[in-house]
Amino acid sequence: MADFDLFVIGAGSGGVRAARVSAAYGARVAIAEEYRVGGTCVIRGCVPKKLLVYGAHFAEDLEDAAMFGWDVPKKRFDWPTLRDNVLAEVTRIEAAYTDTLTNHEVTIFRERAEITGPNAIRLASGKQVTADKILIATGATPVMPKIEGIEHAISSNEVFLLDALPKRIVIAGGGYIASEFAGIFHQFGSHVTLVNRTDVILRQYDQQIVDRLIQISLRKGIDFKFHSTIDKIDRRDDGSLHISMTGCDDIEASALLFATGRKPNTSGLGLEAAGVEMGEKGQIKVDADNRSSVPSIFAVGDVTDRIQLTPVAIREAQAFADTFFGNTPHQVDYSCVPSAVFSHPPLAGVGMTEGEARNKLGQIKTYTSDFRAMKNALAGRDERSLYKLVVDGSNDRIVGIHMIGPDAPEILQAAAVAIKGKLKKSDFDATVALHPTMAEELVLMR
Ligand code: FAD
Repeated sequence: MADFDLFVIGAGSGGVRAARVSAAYGARVAIAEEYRVGGTCVIRGCVPKKLLVYGAHFAEDLEDAAMFGWDVPKKRFDWPTLRDNVLAEVTRIEAAYTDTLTNHEVTIFRERAEITGPNAIRLASGKQVTADKILIATGATPVMPKIEGIEHAISSNEVFLLDALPKRIVIAGGGYIASEFAGIFHQFGSHVTLVNRTDVILRQYDQQIVDRLIQISLRKGIDFKFHSTIDKIDRRDDGSLHISMTGCDDIEASALLFATGRKPNTSGLGLEAAGVEMGEKGQIKVDADNRSSVPSIFAVGDVTDRIQLTPVAIREAQAFADTFFGNTPHQVDYSCVPSAVFSHPPLAGVGMTEGEARNKLGQIKTYTSDFRAMKNALAGRDERSLYKLVVDGSNDRIVGIHMIGPDAPEILQAAAVAIKGKLKKSDFDATVALHPTMAEELVLMR
C-alpha cells in the first residue's frame, strides 16, 4: 500500500483546495510546499496586491474629501507602514491556510518535492514517499528577460518587499500586473513609466475600455513608452539605474519592475523522467479531468497554463477532488470567466469583447454608457466611466459586459451571472434601476 492516497506538490490556491477537500472525503493526503503555504495569490499575488490598491486609493479619496467638507491636514504617505501591515496580514492568512490543512489531517512537508516515478516522490530532505495519485499544483513564476544588468531589476515577487518607495519606477509589460502596479506606484507619488514592446496593452480586454484607461492614466501623469524595449541596465554609484532603451530615450530610474509574463513551474520537477508530457511553455498537458499523460499524475492551476487566475485554479482543484475522491465527477466550464484589472480606475470584463463578437457572430449590437460618477462630479475629478454591453444581434442575448470606473470589478461579478444565465438585453431593460448607483447604467442603456 502507498504511503498516501494523494500527494500534492505546491500549497497554493489549487493545491490547498485539492488537499483539504480530498482529505475531507477521507483520503490520506500529504502536501509539500517549498516556500510559504498559501502560494502566489496569498503570499505575493492577489492578496497583498489588492491591499496595496486599497492603500493607493486613499491618495485620491483624501484629495476629494475637501469638496465633501472635510478639512484633511496635509497628507503624507509612509511606505514601510503599509508594506509591514500588508506583510503581517499575509502572515495571518498563511496561518489560517495552514490551520485548514492540519485540521483536515493533511500531512505538511515544508520542503521542495520532486517526482521520481508515476507514484514516487522525493523530498528535499532526501525522504522518499509513495502515493496512489500525485497532483502537481506548483503554479508559475515570473519570466525575466536575459539582458545585461537584469540582476538590478525586480519582479512581482520582490515588489512587495521594497525597502523604500522608488521616486521613479519603470514598469515593463503589457499585462494586468504591469497596469496594476503602474496605478499603485503613481498613487503613492512615484513617477511611473510603463514600457511596452507594442502599443497594445491588456490585449484580452475590450480595447475601447483599455483606451479609456490609457487616456485617464496619461492625464494623471503616468508616462507610456510604446514600441520600446529595454536593452541593458546599469547601476550608478548613487544606487540609481540607467536603463538603455530601443524605441525611446534612455531612462533614469530608482527601480525597474519586469511584469512580462509568467511561466509554468515545471523545471527540475522530474516530469520528463516520469514521462509527463509538457507543452511549449513547459506547461503540463492535461485532459478535461486534469489528468496528465501519466495516469496517476494530475495537474491543476497555473502550471497547466489554461487561465492563470486563482478562482480557476480553485475550481480545477475542487473538480479533481470531487471526481477522484468524492465520487461526484465533474469538469470545469471555462466559458464566461470574469476578470479584472485593479488599475486606477479599475476595469473588468466578462464574455466576448466587441472585436471577438464581431469576428465570431458577425451581427452584433453594442450599447455604451459614458458617464461621470456622481462622486467624481462633485469632487471635480475629470474622470469618466465607460460601460459596454455586447449583444448577439440574432437573438438579443448579452454575450459580453465590459466596464471601467469606480468599483467596476465589484459590479461586474454580479453582472457576470447574467452572461452565464444567457440573459437577453430585454431582461436588463426590464430590470428596474437602483438609484442612485453607477451600476444602474447597466439597465438603462438604450
Ligand atoms: P500558486 O498559488 O502559485 O502555488 C504554487 C505553490 O507551489 C507555490 O507556493 C510554490 O512555492 C509551490 N511550489 C512550486 N514548486 C514546488 C516544488 N517542487 N515543491 C514544493 N512546492 C513547490 N489571480 C486572480 O484571480 N486575481 C488577482 O487579482 C491576481 N493577482 C495577481 C497578482 C500578482 C502580482 C500575481 C503574480 C498573480 C496574481 N494572480 C491573480 C494569479 C494567481 O496568483 C494565480 O493564478 C494562482 O495563485 C494560481 O494558483 P496555483 O495553485 O496554480 O499556484
